[in-house]
Amino acid sequence: MRTDIMGVGFDDLTLDEAAEKGAALLREEGFHYVVTPNPEIVDRARREEPFRQALNGADLVLPDGIGIVYAARLLGRPLKGRCPGIDLAGRLMAHMAESGERLYLLGAKPGVAEAAARNLEEKYPGLTICGTHDGYFKEDAPVVEAIRASGADAVFVCLGAPKQEYWMIEHGPATGAKLMAGLGGSLDVFAGVARRAPEAWQKLGLEWLYRLLREPRRIGRMARLPLFLVEAAAVRLKGGGDRG
Ligand code: UDP
Repeated sequence: MRTDIMGVGFDDLTLDEAAEKGAALLREEGFHYVVTPNPEIVDRARREEPFRQALNGADLVLPDGIGIVYAARLLGRPLKGRCPGIDLAGRLMAHMAESGERLYLLGAKPGVAEAAARNLEEKYPGLTICGTHDGYFKEDAPVVEAIRASGADAVFVCLGAPKQEYWMIEHGPATGAKLMAGLGGSLDVFAGVARRAPEAWQKLGLEWLYRLLREPRRIGRMARLPLFLVEAAAVRLKGGGDRG
């Protein structure tokens, strides 16, 4: 049973539980995909029904932002906590380094995925990164074929939302990969091109503020955030809260 937050159903899992579920999906037959929506993304899904379906159709839906955790509380159906996509990625890579499953990195500007691959293979000894591709390609077919030929078990798809979610659904099954995760700007962080908020900021739930200070152009996208929380509170007051 998922926890409904403004139309998107979230899996209520700790990061450890989510990583275990991800690893289990890697062992299962067939194609699976993971999404990690933040409030901006849920807000978009409220206005774009196909996108909402793309999120709800995922095998794992994890709350990336503290805003989702606040909204859940306001709605009277609290979640166990935040499960940032980038942290899930770390747990999955530690698992794959042990199990020998192969990882492909897709997305970001040319050169970034390769730099990320070098850093990650150093950070997770034993991890096999079987290929990389930037996220600014015009044709999908050669990318699908490159992933298929690499024998990837898992792919981190970092094309930004909603592109990455639509891409995983449309092309994921043809790649032969068992698991894809849409992870936004994670490759920029892994490559050292972008920096993540220091842990103290993360613990205080201020990762979004850190990002806003570093990338002020995000202000427009983030401006809807307080409104999103007000709307969640309104749903509760109207009696729409407390459902599991
Ligand atoms: N990106 C990409 N192809 C595109 C558009 C974006 O590979 O056509 C990459 C971009 O370089 C960045 C990531 O996708 O690395 C988007 O990161 P962001 O954190 O902005 O994602 P969002 O918050 O929108 O999910």
